[in-house]
Amino acid sequence: AALLALTACGSERDGDTGDSAAPEKGFAKDALIGVALPAKTSENWVLAGGLFESGLKEAGFQGDVQYAGASTTVADQQSQIAAMVTKGAKVIVIGATDAAQLSTQVTQAKQSGATVIAYDRLITNTPDLDYYVAFDNFKVGELQGQALLDGMKAKKPNGPYTVELFSGSPDDNNSKVFFDGAMSVLQPAIDSGDVVVGSKQTDIKQTATQGWKAENAQSRMDSLLTSAYSGDKAPDGVLSPNDSLARAIITSVKGAGKPVPVVTGQDSEVESVKSIMNGEQYSTINKDTRKLVAQTITMVKSLQAGDTPEINDDKSYDNGEKVVPAYLLPPVIVTKENAVEAYADDPKLGPLTK
Ligand code: BGC
Repeated sequence: AALLALTACGSERDGDTGDSAAPEKGFAKDALIGVALPAKTSENWVLAGGLFESGLKEAGFQGDVQYAGASTTVADQQSQIAAMVTKGAKVIVIGATDAAQLSTQVTQAKQSGATVIAYDRLITNTPDLDYYVAFDNFKVGELQGQALLDGMKAKKPNGPYTVELFSGSPDDNNSKVFFDGAMSVLQPAIDSGDVVVGSKQTDIKQTATQGWKAENAQSRMDSLLTSAYSGDKAPDGVLSPNDSLARAIITSVKGAGKPVPVVTGQDSEVESVKSIMNGEQYSTINKDTRKLVAQTITMVKSLQAGDTPEINDDKSYDNGEKVVPAYLLPPVIVTKENAVEAYADDPKLGPLTK
């Protein structure tokens, strides 16, 4: 038996594939799978952690789910990923805190034989990222831009409409994609004069919200109101990239004693869905976290079996070094009109009543 064990051990080390019991491409059914998530800047991240814990366990894997700390997020995440590599994780799933700061860790993971999947947020500047799984981020932006126009039109049939634009954190690759999607819908209306950006701040450097922090959006809205909306002036609409920023923007406007404008959002956060049902926030986006986590675990299972995971997009996400094979899920726009149906089977939100 000792000799056999030695032989088996030796052949594994030499990468001898003659033994059919030793997986050639896949890995052990109870392998370690690392999941490195960013700080809990929105409810989707909180949900994802729990779902990865339970889903990986149910699939028979050992899960190692970590969140980056709230303050030193980048360094935290870098060391968490390095530790997962050291522990021998076979797949490392990463929701990046900073798209451009993980290439060293991704390369280390790749060299150790692990597969790296970017979850929800792309990782840039590395040829070693294997897959990307996310909701269609450009589509999210398009839906937000369209909702902003629709919401303003429903309140006031004819323009011109005055708006303000907000975007997410510059270190998150999604922020630009959301913004570009929204601007693809809004720019023609801006060009025709039907939509006017009151502050004239249309550059993503001006609209950015560092760290996706609500207080940063609130203080920017406070200063926009002071500088561009004196007296009775008020914006008709605000493009907000997500729900926590939408609520901060609404708080700011109310604080200034102005009427609540049409405000978009994203994530279907509990407080925002309440606000939508109360007629305050106008829209959100449903990106069902259960589906995104399930899709990621499906990829992990394919890798375990030695198969190539299914993708449905091979052109949209160039990370600067390669076009990353992606699986993109469809986001859904939600307003008061369709909220009851949209969340009918969501235990976090439903059942709702109008
Ligand atoms: C996610 C959004 C989220 C934001 C802030 C983005 O990368 O796609 O759903 O609102 O991060 O956490």
